[in-house]
Amino acid sequence: MKIGVYPGTFDPITFGHLDIIVRSGKLFDKVIIAVAEDNTKNPIFNIEERKQFIEHSISDLKNVEVSSFKGLLVNYVSEKNALSIIRGLRVLSDFEDEFKMALMNRSLNDEIVTMFLMPHEKYTHLSSSIIREVARLQGDVSTLVPKIVREALETKFNK
Ligand code: ADP
Repeated sequence: MKIGVYPGTFDPITFGHLDIIVRSGKLFDKVIIAVAEDNTKNPIFNIEERKQFIEHSISDLKNVEVSSFKGLLVNYVSEKNALSIIRGLRVLSDFEDEFKMALMNRSLNDEIVTMFLMPHEKYTHLSSSIIREVARLQGDVSTLVPKIVREALETKFNK
């Protein structure tokens, strides 16, 4: 079985992430969305909330599941017998960090292949951080995130 792992912070999941998830589901027998627990990013949603939003958003995708991981990603990927790390590439500015990370992961485990997928162009400027910022300022994010996320953002920022 060909398994791909899509890791990230997902704080919160957006339609850009979902675009990558749907594309990955067509390439792999199974896709595991791996929400990072160790994170220097100080997420606004806790790990359970981030997983719950994803779970809810992928309910119609039969070969996709959500999980979380701590520690080194390459160790988690090999534990799951996965072949590949899936990452999304949006704009050129993503490239440098993603390139560094992919090379580091390759030097840690040369068996695992990092694969980059491009989302639909309508999502190339979408990020979780811009969603958090717009939602904090009471802007409308309904076309950019699943309903469960929009509602959680409204509750968090007291709309
Ligand atoms: P991380 O902290 O690992 O960067 P993110 O949740 O921000 O976690 O992103 C996870 C992955 O999803 C990254 O590869 C990122 O480039 C990708 N991604 C984020 N937003 C989008 C988007 N709008 N379109 C495509 N890929 C995206």
